[in-house]
Amino acid sequence: MAKVVKFGGSSLASAQQFKKVGDIIKADPARKYVIPSAPGKRFAEDTKVTDMLYECYALAESGKSYKVKLAAIADRYREIIEGLGLDLNLEQEFTIIEKNFKERAGSNYAASRGEYLNGIIMAAYLGFTFIDAATVIFFQEDGSLDEEKTDEILSARLEECEKAVVPGFYGAMPDGSVKTFSRGGSDITGSIVARAAKVDVYENWTDVSGILVADPRIIENPAGIEVITYKELRELAYMGFNVLHEESIFPVRQQGIPINIRNTNAPEDSGTWIVGSTCQKSKYVITGIAGKKGFCSINIEKDMMNAEVGFGRKVLQAFEENEISFEHIPSGIDTLTVFVHQDEFMHKEQKVVAGLHRLANPDSIEIESDLALIAVVGRSMKSARGTAGRIFSALAHVNVNVRMIDQGSSEQNIIIGVANEDFETAIKAIYDIFVLTRL
Ligand code: ASP
Repeated sequence: MAKVVKFGGSSLASAQQFKKVGDIIKADPARKYVIPSAPGKRFAEDTKVTDMLYECYALAESGKSYKVKLAAIADRYREIIEGLGLDLNLEQEFTIIEKNFKERAGSNYAASRGEYLNGIIMAAYLGFTFIDAATVIFFQEDGSLDEEKTDEILSARLEECEKAVVPGFYGAMPDGSVKTFSRGGSDITGSIVARAAKVDVYENWTDVSGILVADPRIIENPAGIEVITYKELRELAYMGFNVLHEESIFPVRQQGIPINIRNTNAPEDSGTWIVGSTCQKSKYVITGIAGKKGFCSINIEKDMMNAEVGFGRKVLQAFEENEISFEHIPSGIDTLTVFVHQDEFMHKEQKVVAGLHRLANPDSIEIESDLALIAVVGRSMKSARGTAGRIFSALAHVNVNVRMIDQGSSEQNIIIGVANEDFETAIKAIYDIFVLTRL
């Protein structure tokens, strides 16, 4: 049994947090490969080390004084090293960083030092081998991951080590310069290492006890999700669930390695399992509810639309020409409605309308704004009768007018459009009916 364990910034923000992490790793000998993030916030108003590094490098790049900022970053690490009682000095590392700042090594390089230095501390604290991610994770010229080279070199390197620390978030370009993934990218490193080491589990440790059925800002103390499939998570993530970096799913998904989301501050909680497929039914008929505000609908009508071959293409071309992506396109016999993000659409509105007239020659076009979309997601919905009925009677009961319904062909999700102002009421009503009353 082998596991990759990735710890997020809040799990490594201070010496005290580091100790919790150390205890978690030592409690299970299968926890062989550790992926640390950079130190995150210690309290609400604190600044993440990654953000401090971006700011510091921006000063250096524009020729302003950056020394105070760099010293504050060094202090964050010193505090951790001293708190752990380690015999470790990062002075030389900071001299190199400063030299590279002066030589304009780039903001990617600067940001990557957050996890690099944390990795050095973590390896010293645990007595594990330190592997610089720039020597095992490779990007191609276009900035995408060089999967083949990474997998080959990384797995060979990991095989040589009984236990190792690989800092998250960065790798190397073909010319050897450092490049980072997008923000939150240590999750991706964890997934890449899990695939290369062919581990049994990828544990992703954060500061919540797994994924919740609904947004805790809307539902007080929502239930947790025990098991969720990659597919369900994709649907919910797209609609605003913010748990893992979305790109981190693919490397482990290919190998059938499950991800276990755990809480560093409550390690006894079993968290959420993200799996390829499962025979386990979700506890409730639905697995999760997510949603977003700020959509517009463009309702296009034309008599005998159904008989006109290519009508849909012409309509979508008007959006494509203006570089607007669409969310949903429910259609009727003589109508077709396109849902788009309001902020993307607003300033191009009249150009799109003109394009629609030119390309599709419709009878009428009606635009409605301030709409919200809610996704009700669940693998068990397929086999449960009356799910849609229950959703809509719950919404009718709280006087929410449903503006759009779209059931994905996977039958794993139902998308509902409501007015922005009904968003929270609608989510509460759906949560109540499936989770609280469990009708
Ligand atoms: N430290 C990086 C960030 O703040 C990457 C990560 O934490 O995953 O985005």
